[in-house]
Amino acid sequence: MRRLRISVDRAKCVASTLCVHTAPAVFALDATGKSSVVNPAGDTEEHILAAAEGCPVSAIVVEDADTGERLFP
Ligand code: SF4
Repeated sequence: MRRLRISVDRAKCVASTLCVHTAPAVFALDATGKSSVVNPAGDTEEHILAAAEGCPVSAIVVEDADTGERLFP
């Protein structure tokens, strides 16, 4: 499994928790109620991309950590 770089635009995040439910080992809401990445290797690429695609405000960016290739959006 390739290494992913995942980022959450916390200014956009509206704390829907959808990403947390889709990939609970990868995303968690922090004390401010915004999503943050706790473990980029915590789930399959399929689940991580599903979380990014499901974010209602498109706050999640996923890249290949080694090549920099943008995987989503
Ligand atoms: S799915 Fe998007 S809006 Fe919802 S908690 Fe995750 S990053 Fe925030």
